[in-house]
Amino acid sequence: MAVKTFKGGAHPPERKERSSSIATERLLDVTQVVIPVNQHFGAPLQVLVKVGDQVKRGQKIADAEGRMTVPVHASIAGLVKKIEPRTQSNNTDGPCIVIEASLESNPEDSTEFLPPLDPFACSKEEALARVRAAGIVGMGGAGFPTHVKLAPSKPISVVIANGAECEPFLTIDERTMVERPEDVVEGVAITMKIVNAPEGVIAVEENKAHAVPLLEKAIASSPRTRAGMKIRVELLKTKYPQGGEKMLITAITGKEVPSGGLPMDVGCVVQNIGTLCAMVEAFREGKPLIERGLTVTGGACKKPANLIAPIGTLVADILTKGYAVADDEALRRVIYGGPMMGVAVPSYQIPVQKNTSGVLLMNEEEAKYYDEETCIRCGRCMRACSCRLSPALLAAAVEAGDYKDAEKIGLLDCIECGTCSFVCPAHRQLVQRFRVGKQILRAMKQKEAQNAR
Ligand code: SF4
Ligand code: SF4
Repeated sequence: MAVKTFKGGAHPPERKERSSSIATERLLDVTQVVIPVNQHFGAPLQVLVKVGDQVKRGQKIADAEGRMTVPVHASIAGLVKKIEPRTQSNNTDGPCIVIEASLESNPEDSTEFLPPLDPFACSKEEALARVRAAGIVGMGGAGFPTHVKLAPSKPISVVIANGAECEPFLTIDERTMVERPEDVVEGVAITMKIVNAPEGVIAVEENKAHAVPLLEKAIASSPRTRAGMKIRVELLKTKYPQGGEKMLITAITGKEVPSGGLPMDVGCVVQNIGTLCAMVEAFREGKPLIERGLTVTGGACKKPANLIAPIGTLVADILTKGYAVADDEALRRVIYGGPMMGVAVPSYQIPVQKNTSGVLLMNEEEAKYYDEETCIRCGRCMRACSCRLSPALLAAAVEAGDYKDAEKIGLLDCIECGTCSFVCPAHRQLVQRFRVGKQILRAMKQKEAQNAR
């Protein structure tokens, strides 16, 4: 099988061996969840429950009108104890619904799922409504509403399942492809049906090549491919950020998403592996997105794990109950997400959210911090940037507060992958500047738009 890739990128230490062969375990004894009300990219939700309410597992507890919204559901059955601001995985405080489990209740009486729905027999509108009603968002990153992604305004020629999992340490997508290949294939088929795509590709990085025969077997035995749907596996070079949507599309199709454009501009829809499985469950069982897979690992993790946890589970509870075990003496930093794009947080008392792919417990070596030095104009950052930007120039513009100049040279095209920071011999905090610069630039644009009204 030919191995595909993109130009640029870097090879950070993979460090996946700690958890890649550990089977996924489901948390069964969660006694409390803290569910952030706003876990998606879009407009804020209104809370639909009040303190003292009994809620069922799967019951809708927050929602709003508007296209860029997805509801949130109770991930366990129990009593709403509090509704209050708590620290979320992006390190900001936001409204959260605290539910305490009613362990004595009968699971039959305490579950409220949607009725099953056949995605191959229902209309496109019904399918999109189901994806929204199930609260599904992209589970690999920003939490973009999936029903919006699956309603592109341009024709789609290929659906790509993102099996790259290029962030070091994380292994939950790998485990999912190994343990649930049939669901991954079914998720691709459902997506193809909704967006009317003639082709589906499951893209897997070489370091997970052992998943390929399992996926190919699942493709061969799928009733969808037997009925004529075309799905195949493609192998990708192990390189960061191979799992970025733009890089994945270039590697698979040879096409480039234009500056400021979207995957649909080149006829593609890219779906995360966890999102595909959540979609399958939303149709097959009527199950909303109330739990997710994640990896807990790192040099300061004595017992790493791949887990399925209810949304809102505190990582502190995962560790207290021994599903994963921290080495508190060695611990130097906690990261939600991967080491390249994740967010450092102050404690374990932060919930698992719809987009939490992992939690890293880093030791001294992994969390090492270097003082910044002066840029030596070596050009390494430019050669490594897969978006073909000039990070050194961008950083200079942001530092000078020239946000409009930074925009002209591509600030908004930066995918915040952190490759430039990783390769920089002067340890320049480039991506950190770009994240702040983008926020300021977007706020400036918003203000300009308001003033022009
Ligand atoms: S400039 Fe942005 S896209 Fe390019 S390497 Fe740096 S973080 Fe990644
Ligand atoms: S890699 Fe670092 S030192 Fe080299 S040009 Fe880029 S910012 Fe400057």
